[in-house]
Amino acid sequence: MSLNDESRVNMVSYLEKIGYVKSESVKNAFLKVDRSNFIPEHVKHEAYRDTPLSIGWGQTISAPSMIALMLEVSDLKNGLKTLEIGAGSGYNAALIAEICGEENVITIERIPEVYQFGMENLKRAEYRVRIVIGDGTKGFEEEAPYDRIIATAAAPEIPQSWKDQLKEDGMIIAPVGKERYYQELTVLKKRKGGTFDTKKYGGCIFVPLVGEDGWKE
Ligand code: SAM
Repeated sequence: MSLNDESRVNMVSYLEKIGYVKSESVKNAFLKVDRSNFIPEHVKHEAYRDTPLSIGWGQTISAPSMIALMLEVSDLKNGLKTLEIGAGSGYNAALIAEICGEENVITIERIPEVYQFGMENLKRAEYRVRIVIGDGTKGFEEEAPYDRIIATAAAPEIPQSWKDQLKEDGMIIAPVGKERYYQELTVLKKRKGGTFDTKKYGGCIFVPLVGEDGWKE
């Protein structure tokens, strides 16, 4: 086992111990995807610390515990069509691909340089996930409807397009809050007839979702 593999196994054991990794599917995804392949050279020594890291252009890759929490509440399964808003480094998209299947994952990024970074990382790590550039506050109509829409940037409120692009029984998982630097992890489940059940999973801090139906720059 390389030092990197060993650090990854240790990180997953830690995430299990603190109760953030619960399911076999999330555990296996974390064991499989090498976080160090998705971050810039100067932070590679921190790849398996449970902390957010800068990926450049003012953006971050989230802390593994936060990602684990989001993946667990998303209740992902193989075959679920999933749209991620905020591709960033591509790491979370790779984890989702391990669970849902790479052909079922679409991820969208608004900053051209970050899009390029995420695309190259996914390609190098051999994940054939569809990554697109655009304003994710509008969802991504072309591939709708989705079983899951997972936002990794903070929305002031859930955009209507995400609700419209969701299948019945589908879920939206997003940090939501009217304060720019504090949100609650929020899960909306779509019922028959288009009504929604809402559940909250505590406080979190994400970079803002910037766009037409999000925060203004
Ligand atoms: N999921 C990412 C990963 O695994 O590295 C982390 C994402 S980072 C916390 C949030 C990302 O959302 C940033 O790259 C940011 O540029 C992007 N973002 C913000 N607003 C967006 C929007 N309207 N559409 C698409 N991406 C957006």
